[in-house]
Amino acid sequence: MSPEILCYIGLGSNLEDPRQQVTTALAELDLIPQTTLLQASSLYRSDPVGPQDQPDFINAVALLRTTLEAHQLLDQLQQLEQSHRRVRKQHWGPRTLDLDLLLYGDEHIATERLSVPHPFMQERSFVLWPLSEISPGLVLPDGSRLSDLLVVNPLGTLERICI
Ligand code: AMP
Repeated sequence: MSPEILCYIGLGSNLEDPRQQVTTALAELDLIPQTTLLQASSLYRSDPVGPQDQPDFINAVALLRTTLEAHQLLDQLQQLEQSHRRVRKQHWGPRTLDLDLLLYGDEHIATERLSVPHPFMQERSFVLWPLSEISPGLVLPDGSRLSDLLVVNPLGTLERICI
């Protein structure tokens, strides 16, 4: 039997009722085969990264337990993005739903399709603050402490909008 792995997913949306997109997606993560949603953060409002002429984002982070292999989980996340009729016309542009595999246990993964830990997670307040709600004592696979990363990535304009 495959081992149970704890993994963290970053969710983001800035189109077509983003709060609803993220709330629905959180529930749908629990429907992925061989996977259980253990915890979800509050929703957060963040300024867009990249082009500024687009709506604010709604973000959240979820903790899952899965026996799927990482690429199988990515397949499921991408299916979920598609089912939200993801619109993505430009890099870092608006999208209906973005799902990132942030951490998959303590594994380092570098393939054509998958980079884990997610390469930008250590620099993104909208990932780190929701993550800290779920796992404040988290230590990343490279030994970085989440509590230290929060100091260099302050809350800034990030806004917690609901529980
Ligand atoms: P994005 O525009 O951020 O949604 O990037 C989507 C692409 O990133 C897809 O082609 C994925 O295969 C790739 N990718 C690489 N690493 C990850 C990851 N950790 N989580 C999600 N997508 C990833």
